Amino acid sequence: MIKDNSEYLISRGSNTYEVVIGLEVHAQVTSKSKLFSSSSTTFGAEPNTQVSLVDAAFPGMLPVINEFCVKQAIKTGIGLKAQINKRSVFDRKNYFYADLPQGYQISQFKYPIVGEGTVILDMPNGQKEVGIERLHLEQDAGKSIHDMDPQNTLVDLNRSGVALMEIVSKPDLRTPDEVSTYIKKLRSIMRYLGTCDGNMQEGSLRADVNVSVRIKGSEKLGTRCEIKNVNSIKFMQMAINYEANRQVDLIEEGKTINQETRLFDIKKNETRSMRSKEDAHDYRYFPDPDLLPLEVTDDFIKKLKADIPELPDDKKKRFIDKFKLSPYEATILVSDIDTSKYFEEIIANSDIKLATNWITGELFAVLNDKNLEISDSPISAKNLSKLINLIKDGTISGKIAKTIFELMMDGDKDPQKIVEEKGLKQESDPKAIEALIDKVITDNPEKVKEYKSGKEKLFGFFVGQAMKVSSGKANPQLINDILKKKL
Ligand code: ADP
Ligand code: MG
Repeated sequence: MIKDNSEYLISRGSNTYEVVIGLEVHAQVTSKSKLFSSSSTTFGAEPNTQVSLVDAAFPGMLPVINEFCVKQAIKTGIGLKAQINKRSVFDRKNYFYADLPQGYQISQFKYPIVGEGTVILDMPNGQKEVGIERLHLEQDAGKSIHDMDPQNTLVDLNRSGVALMEIVSKPDLRTPDEVSTYIKKLRSIMRYLGTCDGNMQEGSLRADVNVSVRIKGSEKLGTRCEIKNVNSIKFMQMAINYEANRQVDLIEEGKTINQETRLFDIKKNETRSMRSKEDAHDYRYFPDPDLLPLEVTDDFIKKLKADIPELPDDKKKRFIDKFKLSPYEATILVSDIDTSKYFEEIIANSDIKLATNWITGELFAVLNDKNLEISDSPISAKNLSKLINLIKDGTISGKIAKTIFELMMDGDKDPQKIVEEKGLKQESDPKAIEALIDKVITDNPEKVKEYKSGKEKLFGFFVGQAMKVSSGKANPQLINDILKKKL
């Protein structure tokens, strides 16, 4: 277990600085309805069509906790190997904003539903443990739209009241790569659990990125800046890089860092001050009198535990122990739930080694190329499994399989049908192969002479010729065996 991944250091003059990062990830709970109302959470609806009187904060409307969202938060806590708190409290976090009709956000402050946990990162130089500080439930705000009307800001309240889980890490991250791996791992765990779809384009997963720097080796944490609401891994990495260097420059000039909230400007690739950091007391947190403390029983938690599927870390271990995959292969195949399902569907009926190679090789290349998720793969697991079985039983060679794979992409075609239609069956009849080898030998008397006089490198030439004569269909193993005998 590596404690400190410090290949990412910043040098200025004789000083070497280490970067310290902690993330507050906002993950939208997968749920049909909102945290305290029954309105829908479907993405992409017309503005203000999914707003109940509670979400619009009409006077006298009362919030009612959505039990499903509570279950989702607890399941996520279990996935983060975290302490589940049987008693938690909803507080009002008071601030004014045009898209916050209540004038406060219902959140959890002192008593979150989930306490400390851990996430394991697979880094190229070993595993790294990142501490989770807490996970709490809170409502999302609405959205201000500044670019639809030249005079006015418009407000869409569809998101208002949607359940979010805020997952707060300890300041354990040290490099932009660790941040990327951490976000991907959280996303993976939540997608396995079905508690957050992890869709960053739709805003289901975004993070506030806290960055500070300190002289390498020093114990004391530096003053942090918080970069608000970053919604892509690439932007998080760019923002960290800019921000860390900005802070180092300030320190080197003898200045101090102000604890503040900053924005990342994508176009300029720089962070800008938004406001000096507000403190908890600025929000006048107090327990929401409309909601009772949230209490869950041991039995309630136990039932949820029983429902937890095999998670990526355990699946990886099983793939390595049982299927003899390399840690690298296993990491790739478990990283996303859809990939692991695809793999497991294939190996239920097909060779594991071939399945691993074809998925991580040919299939991933195609998906990358076409920018597709595996759930939209042009080739189904069922048909890739058939193709692998055709290779395994010798019906086709690996080389022909690549041709067939290309053809399968046209409408997820059945490889068996392609073999029949195109006559691509591998020639495995020794008599037939002997005949074509005889032809190659009689056609190339000079080469045979050279070979026999010691130029053994020519063996490959004969194999190639035999393949060519058979239009690539001859069984390569048989060609090898028979050629050896004949020559
Ligand atoms: P706030 O709501 O004030 O931002 P939180 O406790 O919700 O406070 O989150 C603080 C985040 O900042 C955590 O992810 C924590 O790990 C991180 N953090 C705290 N101190 C530092 C520091 N010196 N450098 C970098 N990150 C830090
Ligand atoms: Mg914060």
